Amino acid sequence: MHVLLVEDERKITDFVCAGFREQGFAVDHCDNGTEGFARATNGAYDVIILDIMLPGRDGLSILKGLRKSGNATPILLLTARNELDDRIEGLTLGADDYLAKPFFVEELIARIQALVRRVSGERQNILAVGDLSLDRITREVTWRGHTVDLTGREFNLIEYLMRSPGRVFTRTQILEHVWGYDFDPSTNVVDVCIQRIRKKIASISADTDEHSPIESIRGVGYRFRKPA
Ligand code: CA
Repeated sequence: MHVLLVEDERKITDFVCAGFREQGFAVDHCDNGTEGFARATNGAYDVIILDIMLPGRDGLSILKGLRKSGNATPILLLTARNELDDRIEGLTLGADDYLAKPFFVEELIARIQALVRRVSGERQNILAVGDLSLDRITREVTWRGHTVDLTGREFNLIEYLMRSPGRVFTRTQILEHVWGYDFDPSTNVVDVCIQRIRKKIASISADTDEHSPIESIRGVGYRFRKPA
């Protein structure tokens, strides 16, 4: 976990940095907002902890600047006890969480871990390989930006193959995963379903089967094409 802490109070900085290092986090620290903004812009952090009252640029202005530039790094604000307006403004500007001072470093660590879990969980709802992208929540599938209208079964099949691009799955594996164990293994439903998915994708891009994201492996089964 790579954390940026922007905080000007020495005492807070010391105990937070000590707690983070004990937890095995890598922490960068700045004590003014101008440097904090530059670091946040140029670095690749898992999370940014921002104090609000800072010399140079204040925390809310840093937050606003980052979100305006498209930087989506999770941000937790440190606020003084009665700064209700700042908290509200911070959340409105795109902060992900806040913690009021004084606080225990254990709570800050727990909040950060929850925040990072939440954000990475959201990211994992989208599965994208090469030109194909699918959303596990809305079950929307797009090929080169165009929606592909798949049935539930077709969605489950392509999602199964997409999880391991390049790996070959036998018909039996696909059948068991997508249709269930008690389906007759001699049936050709897998082949039929894959032909349907290929047709739907090809109808969008006018591609031949040669470029289909699902490859047939003769005598074995199918695999999702690994992007070049
Ligand atoms: Ca401060």
